[in-house]
Amino acid sequence: MPEQAKTLTIIVPCFNEQEVIFETAKELSAIVNTMIKKQQVSDQSRILFVDDGSKDTTWDCIQQLSTSNPLATGIKFSRNFGHQNALIAGLTVVQDHTDMAITIDADLQDDVNVIPDMVAEYHKGAQVVYGVRNNRETDTWFKRRTAMAFYGLMKRFGVDMVPNHADYRLLGQVAIKGLLKYRERNLFLRGVVPLVGYPSAKVYYARKERYAGKSKYPLRKMLNFAIDGISSFSIAPIRAIMYLGMTIVLMSIVLMAYTLVQHALGHVNAGWSSLMISIWFLGGVQLVSLSIIGEYVGKVFTEVKERPRFEIETDLYTAQLPTITHAS
Ligand code: UDP
Ligand code: MG
Repeated sequence: MPEQAKTLTIIVPCFNEQEVIFETAKELSAIVNTMIKKQQVSDQSRILFVDDGSKDTTWDCIQQLSTSNPLATGIKFSRNFGHQNALIAGLTVVQDHTDMAITIDADLQDDVNVIPDMVAEYHKGAQVVYGVRNNRETDTWFKRRTAMAFYGLMKRFGVDMVPNHADYRLLGQVAIKGLLKYRERNLFLRGVVPLVGYPSAKVYYARKERYAGKSKYPLRKMLNFAIDGISSFSIAPIRAIMYLGMTIVLMSIVLMAYTLVQHALGHVNAGWSSLMISIWFLGGVQLVSLSIIGEYVGKVFTEVKERPRFEIETDLYTAQLPTITHAS
């Protein structure tokens, strides 16, 4: 083992997770305790639950855990800020107190047994270790297909994402600090993490069913997430409108010439159908185009306000731990 074991903090975002949280704490503690015993990580290592404004008893569970389990600690948001912001908040509070952090969902869908492998990759020099699932059998056909379409689309738009990687990853302190320099409100971590750079590695695992409770990502949220992902990274949709507009203009010039010639030859067309079709078609194109532009204007609107990404109401974590600094 190197000079001194490094500190690991596991960040677990929780939104109405009372059914799973005790089991999650149990499994994560078992892993972390074993690693502490083997001196793979220091005894300052912690499991940080981020309560993202749960409406159920999640926070009570976290408080209970923090007294009964020496590894467990938590922070509580003043309201629901969303999964991505919960991760950012976790990384923000741990950045000066840990050598590395692993983010993992509360529902035990991601295999906790690869945590030691992630830490091993960190010791080999990776600042970012992606957890990648090598199966998607537990997802519905629909979720698999839409996910694939999404990766394909993102790739076309030039966003370098790791396929089949969700938000299960290890970040070294240097990468955490790097990531936190990205100040955007519409934060799409999966797209931003690769932009931070530094050496990275992947560990593979099989994703399981949710241990209990329901998915907090219904179709509507998934769709919004995808649209946010695309519009936060690329202006390709606006480009596409430009090309579409130019094509339609060209088509209408050809059509105009055709109509004029017909007129000159005396074949006058009553033209009701063509008129209706073009009005509806162009109306549709214009609405879609406007909404795409609106999407970006909306992004600018939310970004310029620079509202905070989260608000911590209670912090059981920070006071407990000493500061760690790495030259970056
Ligand atoms: N989550 C959160 N805030 C939210 C929604 C979800 O912190 O507004 C957490 C949730 O508790 C879980 C993780 O984000 O730990 C992933 O959510 P979920 O498992 O419901 O998503 P899925 O795996 O179905 O995509
Ligand atoms: Mg899940």
